[in-house]
Amino acid sequence: MKIGFIGLGNMGGPMAANLARAGHAVAGFDLTAPMPEGVSRADTAAAAAQGADVVITMLPNGAILRAVAAEVLPAMTAGAVLCDCSTVDVESARAVADQAQAAGLGALDAPVSGGIGGAAAGTLTFMVGGPDAAFATVLPLFEMMGQKAVHCGAAGAGQAAKICNNMILGVTMIATCEAFALADKLGLDRQKMFDVVSTSSGYSWSMNACCPAPGVGPTSPADNDYKPGFASELMLKDLRLSQQAATGADADTPMGQLATALYGAFVEEEGGKGRDFSAMLPRFAGRGRGDAQDG
Ligand code: NAD
Repeated sequence: MKIGFIGLGNMGGPMAANLARAGHAVAGFDLTAPMPEGVSRADTAAAAAQGADVVITMLPNGAILRAVAAEVLPAMTAGAVLCDCSTVDVESARAVADQAQAAGLGALDAPVSGGIGGAAAGTLTFMVGGPDAAFATVLPLFEMMGQKAVHCGAAGAGQAAKICNNMILGVTMIATCEAFALADKLGLDRQKMFDVVSTSSGYSWSMNACCPAPGVGPTSPADNDYKPGFASELMLKDLRLSQQAATGADADTPMGQLATALYGAFVEEEGGKGRDFSAMLPRFAGRGRGDAQDG
């Protein structure tokens, strides 16, 4: 296939390299990032999109996606598919899908989980919204860049799945960290706590696969001085998207709201930026009940 790839940063770079390695002709464009191996450089986003069967975007946010889409949609060939793999707000995903449809093009929102490691290893999970035909066109590429692609529904459904999943993740990580901090103060050994919870009804991915307590459970960012992993500021981005969506959809998400506030404070006031999102454990462990009441 002929592929245009726009946004070749930490995630897009290795994803584009995997497509090129599999034998596809990939034309890339990024404002700053270097071209990955096997990807030919286009001078503009529109040039990368010209003549492509599929144009993939992997960009920082919805505003940038909208700007790039306005530039590339007029350059695309009728019947081609614009596949956005960024994590953006549901509204931007739906707006871009509407514009693509009006231009006779297919569009998918296909955010990923799996992080930079998954992008490099080709083991991402894609959560996809958009029409069946566009999904069928891009499926072979999802299979090359990832290990799983779930067609979640119409335009925006992929972003909806991503932010709902990550809202659960943020909330369960905080609950896991505050429970460890409580256990510490009750004199309960962290390893014993893990042994019980990881096989009891409090278990979750946060406890079982990404345990925030160093030296406990499988190797996790906690064992590497909380180097990400999944950085706290990316968790905050996704939680804020969940709250933006909740406001738009009139959904009651009090735990998501509180998790957003806690990660907001952690990233912006408590030195959490650049640390794994499980570094909430030392944050809670170093505080007392009075700190929480003080806000
Ligand atoms: P990044 O900042 O490393 O890459 C984004 C790239 O987009 C940069 O290279 C930037 O130069 C480029 N860019 C910005 N504006 C552009 C424009 N107008 N035209 C062309 N290129 C432009 O970010 P990333 O970590 O690769 O994340 C990309 C997306 O994937 C984000 O939406 C993020 O939320 C999502 N995501 C990231 C991770 C992760 O672990 N990093 C995991 C899942 C999802």
